[in-house]
Amino acid sequence: MELIDGKKISEQIKEEIATEVNQIKAEGGKVPHLAAILIGHDGGSITYVNHKVADCQHVGFRSSLFHYEDDITEEFLLAKVEEINNDADIDGLIVQLPLPKHINSQKILEAINPQKDVDGFHPANVGRMAVGLPTFLPATPAGIIELIRRYNIETFAKHVVVVGRSNIVGSPVSILLAKNATPGNATVTLCHRYTENLKQYTLQADILIVAVGIPGLITEEMVKEGAVVIDVGTTRVKSDVTKSGFKLKGDVDFEAVAPKCSYITPVPGGVGPLTRMMLLKNTLKSAKKEVYQ
Ligand code: ADP
Repeated sequence: MELIDGKKISEQIKEEIATEVNQIKAEGGKVPHLAAILIGHDGGSITYVNHKVADCQHVGFRSSLFHYEDDITEEFLLAKVEEINNDADIDGLIVQLPLPKHINSQKILEAINPQKDVDGFHPANVGRMAVGLPTFLPATPAGIIELIRRYNIETFAKHVVVVGRSNIVGSPVSILLAKNATPGNATVTLCHRYTENLKQYTLQADILIVAVGIPGLITEEMVKEGAVVIDVGTTRVKSDVTKSGFKLKGDVDFEAVAPKCSYITPVPGGVGPLTRMMLLKNTLKSAKKEVYQ
C-alpha cells in the first residue's frame, strides 16, 4: 500500500508555478492576477479566501481581494463583477460561495466572463469540459486528475467507480476519466444517493473515487484487493485530541480499507491540498491565454 501524498505534490506544484512566474517576470511577460470577491464574515469562507490570497503571494501572482458586508445588493455585486470582467490586468475572478440568501448565486456565476472563470463553474466552461475543449477545470476534479497523473496510476481500460454526482466533484470527474485522454479512457460507473446496493459497484472498482460527505461510508468489505482509493470527503467532526476541537474525516474508513489498497489518499493531506494549487494553475493558464486566445 502506498499513501498518496497530496501535501508533497502540492508543494512541488507550488514551486513549479513560482519558477514559471519568475521566468515570466524576467521576460517582462504578464504577471498572473487573481481577484477574489468575499461577502460577509463566515469563518470558513474567510479562511479559504485568505489561503488563496497567500498562495498567490507565495508564487508571485498579484491578487486583489474585494470584501463586502453581507447586506450588499445583487445589483452592486453584478456591477462589481462587470467591472472586474473589464479590467484588463485581472486574469481570474472567483466569488467565494456560499453567498447570502438574497443573492442569486447562479446569476452571479453566470455574470463572470468565462475567460476569467478560474473556478470553472460557468456553464460555458462546464460545457467545454463535457465536449473536450480547452477550459478551466474545476479545482477538485483537476486535483484528482493531477494526483493520478503524478503517481502514474493507469486508468486506461480500468473500471473507475465514482460515488457522488455533485456538479463540482463527482459529475466532472466521471466525465473526465471516461474521455479519450491520459489519464482517461476508463470505464466509468457513477453512483449516487439512489444507487441500490452500493457495494456491488464499489467492489468492482479498480479505482474508487468517493465524494459524498458521509464519514466512514466506504467500509473494508466494499473495496477490492489492490484498488486505488481516492477519498474526497472532508467532514468536520468533534475531536478531543486537536487544538481546534475538530478534525477532518473522509468518506472512507481509512484504517480498515488502507491495507487492501495499492494506493490511497489520506484525509487530510490527500486531495485537499491539490485543490488550492489547481486555482493557481488556472490563473496562470488564463494569464498565458492557454484556454481562450
Ligand atoms: P461534494 O461537493 O463533495 O461533491 P455534495 O454534498 O455536493 O458533495 O454531494 C454529495 C453527493 O453524494 C450527491 O451527489 C449525492 O447523490 C451523493 N450521496 C449522498 N448520499 C449517498 C449515499 N448514501 N450513497 C451514495 N451517494 C450518496
